[in-house]
Amino acid sequence: MSEITETVVTFSVGDVASTGRIVHIADGTAGQKIVVLDTTAAHPVDSAWPDQGADRGSLTVDGSTLALLDVVVCATDGSGFFAGSDIPVKKGAEGWTFVVGHVTETDAALTLGTEVAVEIDPAYRRALSAGHTACHLASLALNVALADDWTKAVAADGRGVANFDGEAIASSRIEEFGSTDVYRLGKSLKKRGFDKARLLAETDAVAAAVNAQLAEWVGSGVAVDIRREGDTLIARRFWESALPGGAASIPCGGTHVRSLSELAAISVTLDASEDGTELTMRTTAVAS
Ligand SMILES: [Zn+2]
Repeated sequence: MSEITETVVTFSVGDVASTGRIVHIADGTAGQKIVVLDTTAAHPVDSAWPDQGADRGSLTVDGSTLALLDVVVCATDGSGFFAGSDIPVKKGAEGWTFVVGHVTETDAALTLGTEVAVEIDPAYRRALSAGHTACHLASLALNVALADDWTKAVAADGRGVANFDGEAIASSRIEEFGSTDVYRLGKSLKKRGFDKARLLAETDAVAAAVNAQLAEWVGSGVAVDIRREGDTLIARRFWESALPGGAASIPCGGTHVRSLSELAAISVTLDASEDGTELTMRTTAVAS
C-alpha cells in the first residue's frame, strides 16, 4: 500500500469547498468506492462518537460530478485499510493513520494523484453547525440548572460548573438546527453524588431554567471559536466561547456557527423516562 498521510481537514475553519489529490482508493460496500484525498472540506461521521453526521455534497473529477454518498473516518496501519466501525483501534492509536473517506458510487476516472474538487451543501452544513453549537450551549446550561443537585464534589465543566453532561451523557445526535441528548440517571450517577429527585419532580422547572440561561447567552451574541492544535483530522480541536458568567472550552471535532448572533433563539425540552433512569433533552435552534 502506498504511503497515506493524515488528511488535512478544512471544515474546522468553516470551509465548504476544497481541492485535494487522491492518495488512496478502496472498495466500499455494494460496489461503492472510498476515495481518500490529501485535503478535504468534508466533515466525516465518527463511528466511535457519531454525534455530527456526514456532510452532503459532491466530488468533481476531470469535469464529471460524482455524488458524495457518505463521508466516514477511515484508518490504516500501512497494511490494512478500514472504514468506520471496522476500524479496530481507537482514534489516534500509535502506528495508525486516520483519514477522511469520501464514499462514491463509481471508480470512473479515479486514479491516484488526480485532483478532486469537493463541494459541500452549504445550507445543510449551516443547519448542522447551528445544531451543534446549540447542543453545546444546552449541555452547559443544563449543568448550570442542576449545579445544586450534587451531594459530592464532581468534575467541573470548562466553566467550573459541576459537569452533569459529562458524567451522565449516553448519546448525543446533532440534527439540522437542533440535537437530541440522552442522559443516564442510573446507580453509577447516584454513586458519584447526583440526587435526581428534584430533576424528576420538577422537570419542567429545570427546563425553564435551562431556557432562561440559553436566552441570556444567545442575547449576548458572543463569538464562537474553534481552537485547533493542528490541521489534520485527529488534531485536537476545542469549541470556545466567552459566555457571560464564564468562558467555555469543550473538546469537539464538529462544525459550528462563528457567533451566537447567527442564532435568534435556542430552547430545550426535557423528558424523563417513566422509570426515572433516563433523561432526554431535545434542543432546537432558530437562525437569526
Ligand atoms: Zn461538539
